[in-house]
Amino acid sequence: MSKTTILLKNVQFIDEQDNRNTGWISIEGHQIRSLGKGQPKDFPVDLVLDGQGLTVLPGFIDVHTHGALGHEMLGITEPGLQEMSRFYASHGVTGFLATPWTASHEAIRDALKVTRAVMGNEVGAKILGAHLEGPWLSVARCGAQDKSFIRPAGREEALEFLNTDLIRLVAVAPEVPENEWLIRECTRRGITVSAGHTNATYAQIQAAIQMGVTQVTHCFNAMSPFNHREPGTVGAALDFPQLMCELIADNIHVHPAAMRLLVKAKGVDHVILISDSINAAGMPEGDYLFKDAHVTVKDGAVRLDDGTLAGSILTMERALANIVAATGRPLGEMVRLASFNPAKAIHLEEHKGHLSRNADADLVLVDEKLQVHLTMVEGKVVYKQF
Ligand SMILES: [Zn+2]
Repeated sequence: MSKTTILLKNVQFIDEQDNRNTGWISIEGHQIRSLGKGQPKDFPVDLVLDGQGLTVLPGFIDVHTHGALGHEMLGITEPGLQEMSRFYASHGVTGFLATPWTASHEAIRDALKVTRAVMGNEVGAKILGAHLEGPWLSVARCGAQDKSFIRPAGREEALEFLNTDLIRLVAVAPEVPENEWLIRECTRRGITVSAGHTNATYAQIQAAIQMGVTQVTHCFNAMSPFNHREPGTVGAALDFPQLMCELIADNIHVHPAAMRLLVKAKGVDHVILISDSINAAGMPEGDYLFKDAHVTVKDGAVRLDDGTLAGSILTMERALANIVAATGRPLGEMVRLASFNPAKAIHLEEHKGHLSRNADADLVLVDEKLQVHLTMVEGKVVYKQF
């Protein structure tokens, strides 16, 4: 059977200085076959899509998201995960890591089972694997994670999860001695390890890098803060150039000045935008249950009754708009924080996170305000609004 060919014409390419050029992309099956500026050559295709002069960006990849539209990874059902996939696609996300957090063994296992069942049949954004944000964290920096379920990494449980072959990213508190073997084991398997919900000192992060840690989880949040005598995890994240830093760019978890400082310190290749969104994303403001706890969504923030931030309702196109606003840098340069950098962090950059010949046809069309009008996942239009 021959592959479907699509010509997407009349789109604007944007370069790193925000220069725009009208152009076209031809797609064959799940891949970009060719692309160019100006008018497309005359070649036979099955379908022509008019991009209406909208800007084309590589699809966003969200490596850290727990839920949306009333659904969350713990207790997730197949239809619920499909609704999440569709919701993410409507916000320009073409791939994501399903992210359970700290919970019982059974609850995490069940979340992984549902993830496995939906993978390959997604109605929207593609599930690229799973991200375990817990349970191997620090009680001292638990944030909104349930302390009572935080535990050191036991071999039997951890290996059962790793052996599902679904895990691409694990958040770990590296200062916990029992977690050291897990960092080495994940690294050996090509699973990315991120220091998260951690009370590690600067020196402990330095040691963790030697063990294989390459990333930090939501930089600034739920980690030992910067102090000029003890730079902590934040100081280490800013200082070690090889560490990739996740960022919740919602202007609530992190002040815009700290977002700007992060990009200054790390450069544009080592910051990853994440949503860290929970079930209330895409829902009206009000009261919700999150991880069995009561939370209130008000003014864009999700808080426990004691005021602790509990995940976000951020979406990836807003995160990108916020980081562009905070840094004053070009969209064409900053888009890599939402696409290429996360792809690279989980070793998928060969085919994902960029618009180029033979890359996966994962793309998004946006207007001047970064509203999403079309999302294509591996050659299939999964969201269209124009
Ligand atoms: Zn999270």
